[in-house]
Amino acid sequence: MELPIPRPNHDTQPYWDAARDDRLALQHCTACNKVQAVPRSFCGHCQSPDLVWRDSNCQGIIASFSIVQRGPTKAFKDYSPYVLALVDVSEGVRLMLNIVGDDRFEAQIGDPVEIIFEARGNDGFKMPQAKRSGVK
Ligand SMILES: [Zn+2]
Repeated sequence: MELPIPRPNHDTQPYWDAARDDRLALQHCTACNKVQAVPRSFCGHCQSPDLVWRDSNCQGIIASFSIVQRGPTKAFKDYSPYVLALVDVSEGVRLMLNIVGDDRFEAQIGDPVEIIFEARGNDGFKMPQAKRSGVK
């Protein structure tokens, strides 16, 4: 069974458009200079509507992770086991991403990761995932 594909809305469309192009786009607030992980029409820190999209450098660190043995749906059961992680992205946001790659089960808190993009479905969608990089 196929894993689900994203359903973009007005606020998230630029994020998913960038992902199709192997870019992680993050919203930066031009009023308070903070970055937010969840796309929305205003800044979650200061409520300003003055947001711009900027590309991340796609580097991060594993803040926490769990190995999922039994996925929540049929598709994720077929995908199991998989490594679900909280990744601190260098721009200052924390994203929930799967760790992918042959060495994914060796993931440790503090490991550096690179955010990569995995094709999903037949419509050109890509999902951000994390791959261990240059492990200490
Ligand atoms: Zn702000």
